[in-house]
Amino acid sequence: KKRLMIIGAGGVGNVAVRKSARMEDVYEEILLASRTKAKCDAIAKEAGPVPVRTACIDADDVDALERLIKEFKADIVLNVALPYQDLTIMEACLRCGVHYVDTANYEPKDEAHFEYSWQWAYNEKFEKAGLTALLGSGFDPGVTNVFTAYAAKHYFDEMHYLDIVDCNAGDHGKSFATNFNPEINIREITQPGRYYEEGTWKRTQPLEIHQNVDYPRIGSKESYLLFHEELESLVKHFPTLKRARFWMTFSQQYITFLRVLEEVGMTSIEPINYQGMEIQPLQFLKALLPEPSSLGPNYQGQTSIGCQIRGVKDGKERTLFIFNNCSHQMAYQDAKAQAVSYTTGVPAALGTSLVARGIWKKGGVWNMEQFDPDPFLAELGPLGLPWEVVVDGKLAFGR
Ligand code: NDP
Repeated sequence: KKRLMIIGAGGVGNVAVRKSARMEDVYEEILLASRTKAKCDAIAKEAGPVPVRTACIDADDVDALERLIKEFKADIVLNVALPYQDLTIMEACLRCGVHYVDTANYEPKDEAHFEYSWQWAYNEKFEKAGLTALLGSGFDPGVTNVFTAYAAKHYFDEMHYLDIVDCNAGDHGKSFATNFNPEINIREITQPGRYYEEGTWKRTQPLEIHQNVDYPRIGSKESYLLFHEELESLVKHFPTLKRARFWMTFSQQYITFLRVLEEVGMTSIEPINYQGMEIQPLQFLKALLPEPSSLGPNYQGQTSIGCQIRGVKDGKERTLFIFNNCSHQMAYQDAKAQAVSYTTGVPAALGTSLVARGIWKKGGVWNMEQFDPDPFLAELGPLGLPWEVVVDGKLAFGR
């Protein structure tokens, strides 16, 4: 059995710990470490049967990470802190000879800019050490990458068009709140949009392109084109793709709030001087907004995330839609979380356990689509995220 260290006790960490602690065949002990130990203790108290220890850690400090990983004798580390900590945690894993898993690609604190180059640069080091680094094991990135790999493996000779569609049709009863870390979320959606077409990246103004998308069991919802990190790795690993785009729903109310906050400067990451103190407006805003993990109890409705793919099989055009719908209430009953944390924490726990069990294991830095999608998808439904495949308009497979 293995020893798992999870870093980050937020919305996603809560789900990842609860799910991992039910994997008695895989783990003998779990250590949950984060900046605020009280949050780790509150989660650990309710998780089991695998014993969960807790600790305080500053994940920006490689030496402190190295000490804690060694002291706990971890075999694998799951990073569900913030994207800013990816490189320090990867560095510490290399020093200690342990595997690494995360759910979001590295982003420098002072630059709202995310791409895989920084983490891919670690490939040789992980390969030489015979250690697996699995990147982006959440839902999107994560399950969407595996969905695409599954479609490529079983349904297409060539995939040409990919649209990842992400809908949250839930209602948490608050006038404005983000579903995951507000700082990371707002940085992501106030950026210019970007999509891939015919070998180049096309840029758009933030939220400039939008259209109605039909979501299963939800209906039609206005969806906005955003850049999302899985597009970068998917077009690299599936070079037959002529176009790849990502769409996400936002309500009119959400966009109005966001525009006002933007116009008055509250979403800026440029520090300002306030009464002799340096503050970053976006970080200050985060302190005022509800904690994403607190939205769970009253959250109604569901999320729906999937991949619409067009391509050819045996010389014929084929369309495929592969998706999961997840209810906020079910997520709360299973893991005291809302569906956005749940749909990220479940695949994080699953990807980590596949690496821990040696089912997904090879030295180097990998994106999810580079592994065999079948073992992952065989366990995703039973773990709480059932998925369905519709081929040429007909349900081909559902569980
Ligand atoms: P939260 O803000 O709820 O949680 C982040 C946690 O990390 C908090 O407990 C925080 O501590 C801790 N933390 C932050 N900085 C440090 C540090 N320097 N040292 C130690 N701990 C630290 O975020 P979420 O749980 O919503 O998101 C977690 C990750 O999941 C993010 O990287 C996010 O981008 C990613 N994500 C991925 C998705 C996907 O589908 N792939 C979807 C949603 C999120 P404290 O409690 O003290 O603030």
